[in-house]
Amino acid sequence: MTKHQDERHTATSAREHSAVPRREFFARAATAGLAAMTARSLRAAPATPQRAQIAITLDLEMSRHYPVRGMTEWDYQKGNLNEPTKQYALDAARIAKERGALIHYFCVGRVLEQDNVDWLKEIHELGHPIGNHTYDHVNVWATEPAQTQFRFQRSPWLIRGMSAAEIIQQNIRTTTMAMRDRLGFDPAGFRTPGGSYLALDDREDLQQMLRNEGFSWVSSKYPQHEYGTAMQPPTEAVHDSIVSASLATQPYVYPTGLVEVPMSPISDVGAFRTNYWKLDDFLESVRRCVSATIDRGLVFDMLMHPSIMYVEDPNFEAVKLVYDLVNDAGDRAEIVGLGTIAAAAQPSTPATPK
Ligand SMILES: [Zn+2]
Repeated sequence: MTKHQDERHTATSAREHSAVPRREFFARAATAGLAAMTARSLRAAPATPQRAQIAITLDLEMSRHYPVRGMTEWDYQKGNLNEPTKQYALDAARIAKERGALIHYFCVGRVLEQDNVDWLKEIHELGHPIGNHTYDHVNVWATEPAQTQFRFQRSPWLIRGMSAAEIIQQNIRTTTMAMRDRLGFDPAGFRTPGGSYLALDDREDLQQMLRNEGFSWVSSKYPQHEYGTAMQPPTEAVHDSIVSASLATQPYVYPTGLVEVPMSPISDVGAFRTNYWKLDDFLESVRRCVSATIDRGLVFDMLMHPSIMYVEDPNFEAVKLVYDLVNDAGDRAEIVGLGTIAAAAQPSTPATPK
């Protein structure tokens, strides 16, 4: 794990990837992609590709180095959202609603301590699902208490006597309770803070804990892919690597019955904070990935953060681009919440909250 879980799906993935021989990485990606596509195509055994499912997701938390480089106090206050972040989240919800589209949000519970949560209630009333993203943005893979969150390194009395597993479970349960108390509804699914290419594959304890906390699906996987050189625009090889990883990283069911709905690359964190890309570079990557996903009838789960996007994409071009691509595809694609994707991945289980 890295020193900061929020960067795990970017910096760490890049670093870990460098330890994997290039040929082996692509062989793995190709195998995983074949398995995923086979699983999805077997559902209905269609002659033509199934309808692609595209999700737009916004994680509601503050991000280090935003709105300016060097700003890292957010590491201790992930849920203390500033006004532009909340406004961007709400405006995106309104823009999507106007177009008949959906955005799936994930809420860090600590934001519910703020004076006013009307913006979150409005997002819910517009019909957008809001999931649980833990209370303090804890690292669910952590096995030592101090590794769970920076806040608990600075203020260890908050987790006095607790194990890492207890901290993580309590952080998740407290968010569910806070959403019920302050917002009046239950979370629509769970997304891990950060992401890992390992997902929860070898963590049956976490799969079971999430099921016990009432979740039927999780969004925890972020695949390895090439990043190229920071401050350089993406090369064709980088674009190709991201598209390959995106197509290969599809929903699946864990042995415990929990469904995994992976995050699709490249995240805004990887594009803007890690790589210093321009908005057009990010939009080009999204265009390629979503187009390839639609052509193959697969799933794409776009990951962004309002705390980053209000700086990098103030005119909501990314949201509008995805909407246009799906709209132009007619009945070959639809924009859905992650619960719909999870239900389709495991049709034998009862429908999950959208
Ligand atoms: Zn997060």
